[in-house]
Amino acid sequence: MIGVAVLGSTGSVGTNTLRVLARHRDRFRVVALTAYDSADLLKRQAREAGAAFVGLVQGTGVAGTGMGEGCLVEAATHADVKIVVNAIVGAAGLPATLAALRAGKRVALANKETLVMAGDLVLEAARRGGGEIVPIDSEHSAVLQCVTGARAGTLRRLILTASGGPFRDWPAERLAGATVKEALNHPTWRMGPKITLDSATLVNKALEVIEGHFLFGLGYEAIDVVVHPQSIVHGLAEFTDGSVLAQVGFPTMELPILYALTHPERLPDDGTRRFDPVAAGPLTFEPLRRDAFPAFGLGVNAGCNGGTAPAVFNAANEVAVEACLAGRLAFGRIPDVIARVLEAHDVQPAGDLAVVLAADRWARERAEAACS
Ligand code: MG
Repeated sequence: MIGVAVLGSTGSVGTNTLRVLARHRDRFRVVALTAYDSADLLKRQAREAGAAFVGLVQGTGVAGTGMGEGCLVEAATHADVKIVVNAIVGAAGLPATLAALRAGKRVALANKETLVMAGDLVLEAARRGGGEIVPIDSEHSAVLQCVTGARAGTLRRLILTASGGPFRDWPAERLAGATVKEALNHPTWRMGPKITLDSATLVNKALEVIEGHFLFGLGYEAIDVVVHPQSIVHGLAEFTDGSVLAQVGFPTMELPILYALTHPERLPDDGTRRFDPVAAGPLTFEPLRRDAFPAFGLGVNAGCNGGTAPAVFNAANEVAVEACLAGRLAFGRIPDVIARVLEAHDVQPAGDLAVVLAADRWARERAEAACS
């Protein structure tokens, strides 16, 4: 039996994870669950899954729990846990990822922000502690499935697909007046509000380019993005001989979650809709409109600049998204806020966690000021 901790169990990836785990009780045991503040749902999940450790970051009302931010690290390093599913949203997931990797655990990572913020430190923690990172993000799961079994050094290029979000074909001038409500209406994926807004600005795709750089060790010039509105082809891997493999399927998070738990093996599972190429087609591909979605280029540039730049990009975006969801910032202003913060930033090498966290704090203050 493999012990699993699910951090962020009440969110979209968290609830999908528990659904997958419930189908495989003979293989996996839910040891620890944590949530931000959804105490009632967390209690119900813990009862149903029989979790020994329950952690609530904010709030009260769950008996026998770990409380506060510390509960994330406690759950992630629990002695009975082998796999930590990190489904926390945003920078708050970083300490738990680092702690789990240092303790030699597998981290099934949905929390891409932590790899963006501190990719080198996360990789170093995995090397030193003997832990490993397996992506849950559907594009990276697709690429991992394509390259598993391939000889080292034969991967030449990644092609990540993007649905294009709700504003894929909107002219730039109409986009400037888009509302949050329109941005939250994603055409193909049902997800939490933060990642849905990130998909509408294409910040999510920039974060995924940076994530791909760290996960697969390729330079930014070797990572491309193509818009694919049907979200059927999740990712492609091009090899040195020019051959390209793709992973396809109807959009569901349950498959990448299951694969992250079992990689490089596969478990028999009938829980998701079987693929039907005729029902899925026709499949189309188009270039990403960089001019209409300037936040994408800002993010990729931050990735190329390296050091603290990706952490600053991520922090500025998190603040802008929060302000936007709270009605304090117009959706169309998110890229301006990110651009202003990045422009004011002096990039530092990110070899030390204190430097990364200081850059993150600095960027949050700057972004708050830019939002008002
Ligand atoms: Mg994704």
